[in-house]
Amino acid sequence: MDNLVNEKKTGWEKVDNELKEKIYKFADEYMYFLNNGKTEREIVSETTEILEKNGFVNVEKLEELKAGDKVYYCNRGKSLYIAVIGEEKMEKGLNIVGAHVDSPRLDLKPNPLYEENGFAYFKTHYYGGIKKYQWTTIPLSIHGVIVKTNGEKVKVNIGEAEEDPVFVITDLLPHLAQEQMEKKLKDGVSGEALNLLAGSIPANEKDAKEKVKYNILKLLNEKYGIVEADLLSAELEIVPAFNAKTLGLDRSMIAGYGQDDKICSYTSLRGILNIEHPKKTAICILSDKEEIGSMGNTGMESHVFDTFIAELLDKVGENRPNLLDRVFCNSRMLSADVDAGYDPIYSSVSEVNNSAFLGRGVGLNKYTGARGKAGASDANAEYVAEVRKMLEDNNIAYQVSELGKVDVGGGGTIAYILANKGVDVIDCGVPVLSMHSPYEVTSKFDVYEAYRTYEAFLKLQ
Ligand code: MN
Ligand code: MN
Repeated sequence: MDNLVNEKKTGWEKVDNELKEKIYKFADEYMYFLNNGKTEREIVSETTEILEKNGFVNVEKLEELKAGDKVYYCNRGKSLYIAVIGEEKMEKGLNIVGAHVDSPRLDLKPNPLYEENGFAYFKTHYYGGIKKYQWTTIPLSIHGVIVKTNGEKVKVNIGEAEEDPVFVITDLLPHLAQEQMEKKLKDGVSGEALNLLAGSIPANEKDAKEKVKYNILKLLNEKYGIVEADLLSAELEIVPAFNAKTLGLDRSMIAGYGQDDKICSYTSLRGILNIEHPKKTAICILSDKEEIGSMGNTGMESHVFDTFIAELLDKVGENRPNLLDRVFCNSRMLSADVDAGYDPIYSSVSEVNNSAFLGRGVGLNKYTGARGKAGASDANAEYVAEVRKMLEDNNIAYQVSELGKVDVGGGGTIAYILANKGVDVIDCGVPVLSMHSPYEVTSKFDVYEAYRTYEAFLKLQ
């Protein structure tokens, strides 16, 4: 029997030149997407533009919906729900692919700006699970919005254009770092040391108390028309100022910031763009706040997604009391989030038989969680078999893995939130090296397979 043993091989072996061209082209398009959107707000506005160009309409503009219609709902500019209405009644179930568009980063504090000994700094508060030392001594940019009390919203993006200045968090020179170097790695750089260096020229105003800070405020006022108090109602995010690039002499990989989870956001978006007149209604979720627990009204724990599905049910004329619960119970989902890739340099945290390898296709996690699967949504074997069949029927390379060794750690995704509503869910995404770092690594082969996976799934009958 050819298939008696489940042999695990790199997918590149079966890639001919023609396919390689396609994979590289897709990767280029993905990197373009990454470099144009580094925050959830930017990704959502970039994605909305792509959707509009491809015939998707804001669902609020339509009174009625019919099979084949393509719509989206934008939740406060930070998360998106996308749908292509199916031929079949929604009651029979939806095909959902759910990714998230937020990534670990540093946020500016509400009162960020201060001056100390001739330097102006911005105070930050990190967002999501980061290794703090990784954010020092790299070029950083500021992205986000400042909202004035009159409602005017100022968009900020400093550090990306060639002529823009960048920002940096300094670190101690090794010559004087003896004490720092003896600390535990997690304590080497503290949260309160993640201060962004922002200026050093004093203002001319004689009466100004802190002249360097004053000068920065003057520059911000000239550029954006804001005063210091306006920073109280702002969302300013600090992200790496460098771009995603091809990695390796063989050009097989991608290095870039925010691939968790823009890699699954982009591939699922590309998947749903190919859906025309599906049998089942196809849904794509681009959620926010996953990295800090999915809470809040733009996170997956909110009921805004339910409201969106209820709105679809109303507008196709199918709704009736309690139908929403039934729709969810009949639905299936791929939780499209990244997976920990096996890293030979840090092999001791992985169990090799149950690890996801870069280049072997999409990684499925039957469950996540930590210490005895705590907090995991464990996909039912029946459903895993259904997803395997879909992958095998489409000749898609896949692997089923765990995050790492049993007692080493763990993690979670949005899978459990939809599973709690009654949806059949499994985690299915792209393996990543250096996850949550400013420069995450993925395989171009896996990116392409993720795209094929999400498209095939959204077309399931
Ligand atoms: Mn993620
Ligand atoms: Mn993450």
